[in-house]
Amino acid sequence: STPGRAKVREDKILVTVRMRPLNRKEQAMYDLIAWDCLDDHTIVFKNPNQERPTVPYAFDKVFAATCSTHKIYEEGAKDVALSALSGINATIFAYGQTSSGKTFTMRGIAENAIKDIYEYIQNTLERDFILRVSALEIYNEIVIDLLNRDSGPLRLLDDPEKGTIVEKLTEEVARDSQHLRHLISICEAQRQVGETALNDKSSRSHQIIRLSIESSLRETSGCVKSYIASLNFVDLAGSERVSQTNTCGARLKEGSHINRSLLTLTTVIRKLSGGKRGHLPYRDSKLTRILQSSLGGNARTAIICTISPALSHVEQTRNTLTFATSAK
Ligand code: ADP
Ligand code: MG
Repeated sequence: STPGRAKVREDKILVTVRMRPLNRKEQAMYDLIAWDCLDDHTIVFKNPNQERPTVPYAFDKVFAATCSTHKIYEEGAKDVALSALSGINATIFAYGQTSSGKTFTMRGIAENAIKDIYEYIQNTLERDFILRVSALEIYNEIVIDLLNRDSGPLRLLDDPEKGTIVEKLTEEVARDSQHLRHLISICEAQRQVGETALNDKSSRSHQIIRLSIESSLRETSGCVKSYIASLNFVDLAGSERVSQTNTCGARLKEGSHINRSLLTLTTVIRKLSGGKRGHLPYRDSKLTRILQSSLGGNARTAIICTISPALSHVEQTRNTLTFATSAK
């Protein structure tokens, strides 16, 4: 593999951290940059009130505020994304507090992946490919079709062969990369709907854009070898929705700040990376049910944790880094 690329076991979750620059609001408040990227793997809190730095956090990769999304794609998502071309389900998450850069990062990751996928398809003459796209939003455990918002809440069904499926979810065949980009832009516009009416909606909702990639050998002789896999781009609800409390279960019903799907996802990921066999509570939330076949098992997973550099956000950043540590 390319030098400098994060070397991870294929069965491991690839966990990276991206710090964004201070934004205008933070600059206007004379907020301070509270974190130092020591090298490609390590980030440390630099306590402005103390001389001594605290214990650093280490990950597969740490991306400083100056890193381009292209670099983050190359080192934190590309291998996982492209595995879907050879029949392996893959999921790429953006995890972090609201305004830390999840949507910004995930859009760029999807753009980069689409470019590479079509390049691969064009160079792989011996196979025929079909790409389909679907997209949904989960808000308060209600699933909405982002390619057909008028269809109302969608139900999840258990299919004996396919596992959990989203009933009546629109799936469009992408004719080419331009068409695929167009379809994704429709989803993004749909996601904005109701944004102003529903207080805080973007911080509470999860978005999944799913590419289904199918291919078969063009030759008619010999065996027909075909692949099908999903590649999921997941822009999660703000992580403050899990970290406001550490208690699970009991407090789930009260307090709308807790997000069931996010809490269940973090539990599943912790258990997967802990490597213990035990019960994985996929069925406890809509998000984990929908992603079950693309999370754990033979699937490949990348989590990009986005953080603010600001001292004013240090508590949430610590929570994110603690989650990131438990995921690797
Ligand atoms: P989130 O989805 O986590 O709530 P956004 O992706 O919407 O956060 O980012 C919040 C704001 O910060 C947006 O205006 C976005 O363009 C900007 N931003 C986020 N990450 C970066 C970055 N790495 N470089 C420059 N601007 C960024
Ligand atoms: Mg967002």
